Amino acid sequence: MTYPAAVPRARRAANEPPREFAIDRTLGPGRHPLLAVFPGLDRLPAFSAVAKRHPDGEKDLVRVAIELVSDDIWMYVAPTARPPDAPPEWTPVIAKDADVIVVGLSHLRESPAILLYLDILHELCHIAQRRRGLDLWDRRYGYVDRPTEVEAYEFVIEEARRLGATKPFLREYLRVEWVSEEDYQRLLDKMGLSEG
Ligand SMILES: [Zn+2]
Repeated sequence: MTYPAAVPRARRAANEPPREFAIDRTLGPGRHPLLAVFPGLDRLPAFSAVAKRHPDGEKDLVRVAIELVSDDIWMYVAPTARPPDAPPEWTPVIAKDADVIVVGLSHLRESPAILLYLDILHELCHIAQRRRGLDLWDRRYGYVDRPTEVEAYEFVIEEARRLGATKPFLREYLRVEWVSEEDYQRLLDKMGLSEG
């Protein structure tokens, strides 16, 4: 018995970034150009999509700097001043007049590429929002209701779905440690990822 000659080729793993996404995981602490950490990021369609949300577009978005720090963190946009409700134990990198995304060195060195891909897009969304005049630390909202977070999460979830990411993966991706179980469920709801 012969099976069809066209055996399905090995499919790309479901939870992978685009093939062209590159990471230099060897860089040391300090400030680096965005494209030194993620070479070629500016040639990916998702980057252009974020740039469309930025008033000055791609030419400005590529100027974002990445600051690698040894703190055990994922990523955040360096605020221009200490956010009023920042937890006392947190000493954020402050960048007064530059667009800086702070990235934990261990995140850069060890995390699966898809996580770095989605995280950097999320933070670039925030850079674009800040340039549109939005407050990234708007205290009128809790984290999962803040319009800037909802937009950034919607953007990356849509991109991940386009890449074929699975629902269990996305549910897990949204489980961040600073969100209560109740808020986590609401975030899943907003992203259309609730169980059932
Ligand atoms: Zn965010």
